[in-house]
Amino acid sequence: MIKAALIIFALMLAVVPSLSSCQPIRPDPVEHEANLFHEPGLATTRSPVAPFHLSKYDNVSVYTIEESDNDGRSLLHVSYPVTEHGAINARMKEVALEFIDEYRVASEEIEAAYQEYRRDTGRVEATLVTSYRQHFDVSAADTNMIFFVVSGSRYVGGWSDEQAYGYFFERRSGLEMLASDLFVDYLYVQRLSDLTRSALEKRARAAIAEIDFDSDAARSKWLELSEKWIRDATPPAPEAFDNILFGEDGTLRVRLDVYQVVPGLEGVVEVEVAIDEIADLLRADVRQLLARMSPVDVPFPQPVLKGQGAGTPLSQSLQPPVEEQPSCLEVPCVALTFDDGPSIYTERLLDILKEHDVRATFFVVGQSARIHAATIRRMDEEGHQIGNHTWNHPNLTELSDELIQEQIQRTDSIISQIIGETTPHMRPPYAAYNDHVLAVSGMPFILWSVDPLDWRDRDPEIVAARIIASPAGAIILAHDIHRTTVEAMPSIVASLKGKGIRFVTVTELLGPQTLESGHTYFRQSDRE
Ligand code: ZN
Repeated sequence: MIKAALIIFALMLAVVPSLSSCQPIRPDPVEHEANLFHEPGLATTRSPVAPFHLSKYDNVSVYTIEESDNDGRSLLHVSYPVTEHGAINARMKEVALEFIDEYRVASEEIEAAYQEYRRDTGRVEATLVTSYRQHFDVSAADTNMIFFVVSGSRYVGGWSDEQAYGYFFERRSGLEMLASDLFVDYLYVQRLSDLTRSALEKRARAAIAEIDFDSDAARSKWLELSEKWIRDATPPAPEAFDNILFGEDGTLRVRLDVYQVVPGLEGVVEVEVAIDEIADLLRADVRQLLARMSPVDVPFPQPVLKGQGAGTPLSQSLQPPVEEQPSCLEVPCVALTFDDGPSIYTERLLDILKEHDVRATFFVVGQSARIHAATIRRMDEEGHQIGNHTWNHPNLTELSDELIQEQIQRTDSIISQIIGETTPHMRPPYAAYNDHVLAVSGMPFILWSVDPLDWRDRDPEIVAARIIASPAGAIILAHDIHRTTVEAMPSIVASLKGKGIRFVTVTELLGPQTLESGHTYFRQSDRE
């Protein structure tokens, strides 16, 4: 029995192997973004450091990098925050690039192993995918401070790894604060050590209780050992507690490094501590900031639900009568679609579309939609359609049924909080889906017939030329996370309109009655 226990134990201790990723995923993904912070018109349309109370997301935008390589086997989707302060932005970008580099090293190893496997077996495994996704959230913010949680997940065909880090900044100076800067007294180290130790001991005891030992003596020995290891993992030293993050539920999460893994705990160890248990040692301004953060995330006022109540709403009666447009069965149409936003470029894109009276469809990422709630509201008000592109852009073929549904429903819920309507259709990230994902998602899947490769060729003229060549009936893929794509739009619109082509939403192109759950749509002729 001891042998079995040893094996279990060894498994428990197994330290997460260092991951790797695919090929250099693309040329430097951020070189195109070099002049980002010199484009004030694009960076933010809101005034910097205005007094704000409504939302911790005020003055925060999302910058997203999406890449794929090795015939789509290596996928990268990384978002990081852009704020009113260049120093904060530079640091958060640096963090993102470090994670990307780490992933690339790992991904290259995996790709090399895959190529060897192909040579040896002659088999092509389309499902062997490596991916890295990174997102962020604002865990707390006021005019003086802003706290981020950056979370990343790496996936290599069956093996995955999650990480999360807290970052803290003074907002006016842009200076980064360390975890230790959030406390008034060095005693916090002892307190965190005590709290995390007792939590881990409880967990280890529960795990050891599950193991079938030969004797009580053997069990006691293991308990003793685990206590020692836990003591070693939680020394009253600041280095042990340098990664802490604040949850939306009024908790402080302590993340312990993998080498500190103890029995009954695998991977990175996270311990939750109620803020109350450490509040007396927090800086007064930090304590106040956290106290102001609502445990329930309500970043915007409740919307007025459309179609509620009887009679014609006042706003509708004040609107000019809508011109009857010929349907897409009578005139040539295309549907422009934009994925992965909203981003720092989306407001500019909306300006262009408005100026040219063009309707488009946005497949938004829920987590970015929450941050850019005002942009989502504007899309809706200006006649665009909002589709579901999941909460944080995972490869759905890698997820359980529950997680697939959560990805879709969470996004639906944030969209309906903002505009009062759920999303009518979705687009799976990386176009990665199979019959099972299609069935579990319970939504119509909108793919595309024209792909201008705007993520790869960051050149407005090239992107424009490819889109302009679209036939009538096309669903056109584009990304509003690339400045160059947004810059390509005026000439695209002018040229296609010159050919008499109308820009419509996906639903208009396909006809709403034809959109069926579990079906895929690539172009207008897919309507029934
Ligand atoms: Zn996408």
